[in-house]
Amino acid sequence: MRYDIIVIGGGPAGYLASERASKENKSVLCIEKDNVGGVCLNEGCIPTKTLLYSAKLYDGAKNGKKYGVTTEDIAFDHAAVVARKNKVIKLLTGGIKSTLKANGATLINGTAMITGRTDDGYFTVSVGEETYEGEKLLIATGSQPAVPPIPGLREGLDSGFVLTNKEVLSLAAVPESLVVVGGGVIGLEMASYFNSIGASVSIIEMLDHIAGGNDAELTAILRKNYEKKGMKFILGAKVTSVGADCINYELNGEGCTIPCSKVLLSIGRRASTSELGLETIGVETNRGAIVTDAKMRTNVENVYAAGDVNGKSMLAHTAYREAEVAVNNILGIDDAVNYAAIPSVIYTNPELGAVGLTEATAAAKGIEVSVVKLPMRFSGRYLAENEGGDGIFKLIVEKNTRKIVGAHALCNYASEFIMVASLMVELGITVEQAKRFVFPHPTVGEIIREAIFQCE
Ligand code: FAD
Repeated sequence: MRYDIIVIGGGPAGYLASERASKENKSVLCIEKDNVGGVCLNEGCIPTKTLLYSAKLYDGAKNGKKYGVTTEDIAFDHAAVVARKNKVIKLLTGGIKSTLKANGATLINGTAMITGRTDDGYFTVSVGEETYEGEKLLIATGSQPAVPPIPGLREGLDSGFVLTNKEVLSLAAVPESLVVVGGGVIGLEMASYFNSIGASVSIIEMLDHIAGGNDAELTAILRKNYEKKGMKFILGAKVTSVGADCINYELNGEGCTIPCSKVLLSIGRRASTSELGLETIGVETNRGAIVTDAKMRTNVENVYAAGDVNGKSMLAHTAYREAEVAVNNILGIDDAVNYAAIPSVIYTNPELGAVGLTEATAAAKGIEVSVVKLPMRFSGRYLAENEGGDGIFKLIVEKNTRKIVGAHALCNYASEFIMVASLMVELGITVEQAKRFVFPHPTVGEIIREAIFQCE
């Protein structure tokens, strides 16, 4: 059967592209081998935030005294939280299926494999015994957890001692102790959840700081917040092997062992491109990720790749935008992704929201910037809701143009208001232009306005 577009993968990039293209009267086949919604809906963004919300409520109840609220018999029912998470996933994935159907896209379940081209240039894709032909191809096969060749790791994964982001979401009981290997976004969020609900949590991280390329000062405060809550951070350490009930690592040249009930492996993700048949049509990859330009074009005409599979950003909202850009270019509408304005959030408690340049990345690029740094206490709403909070906000402004090129916030609601700074970066807004924007009062996001008015 012939289609205008074959989309491989039904995650955020794949389902959104299918939705948009079918709405424009293109015949679209979307092939998903597992559950529609991909990692984001089934084992990533949404399930983790569902769990984290329950943990936040629990933390709030336990710490209500400082706000004049006390309660007794507070309990956390992990099984009920997991059941609610499953309900949320079902609702959302059901919604995607309905939307695809309503728009006229065809969704099929199966593993797609690119097999070549027809004489008239259509791409051929097989799913089991069936072969489908598409004039254009959008590859949106996403990513999977990276599993490095550490002795004992495979055995640990097989026995269930070591978990990835997928299995950890369905743990029947709270482990007594959890070692998280990797202090990036996923590791920190899950560490936060299990710390809140009573597990003894340690994070082993190879770098000397957590949270990757985020602002170093903010991530240090975040770490201290969690240290106060009892979390242990082992930084600058390299895991050397996995035992039956422990992790062995090297720290400052010395071998160390940490016993634990479970391990969460979260050292990063790699693009899902193996056994996809990319070589049959000559699609270029770099370390497994499909190489694309900002229009989501690959090196092969009429073949596009969006989402985690191109390894550019590995965030769901980037996947959405890339999918839209791919579809627009397929439709002949010129469009490109601006990666400089994509916000990112770590949904810890407090959250860390960021967009654009940090002081360090600006210096590395040779861009002269001025930085306004404010304690979050400058926001009345923050003060009202965060007894003893030590969050900070940083605004990064390019010196010669006065354009806002970065913003970094450590506080709750950062996930909701970082978009305001993101818009400023995307549109190239200057400090003078930003002074005219009115924020609702009182909101935590007003911190952006405070910073703008302190910019010399
Ligand atoms: P995926 O979601 O991986 O979807 C790809 C789909 O393709 C999958 O469903 C897969 O089954 C299918 N597929 C693969 N190969 C084939 C094949 N050969 N044939 C058919 N189907 C195939 N991002 C955020 O922005 N915010 C967050 O809060 C956030 N939290 C996260 C938490 C966790 C624990 C994890 C793991 C990730 C999180 N992410 C978050 C990242 C986000 O989930 C991904 O960026 C997003 O899912 C990428 O979408 P995608 O469509 O590119 O790929």
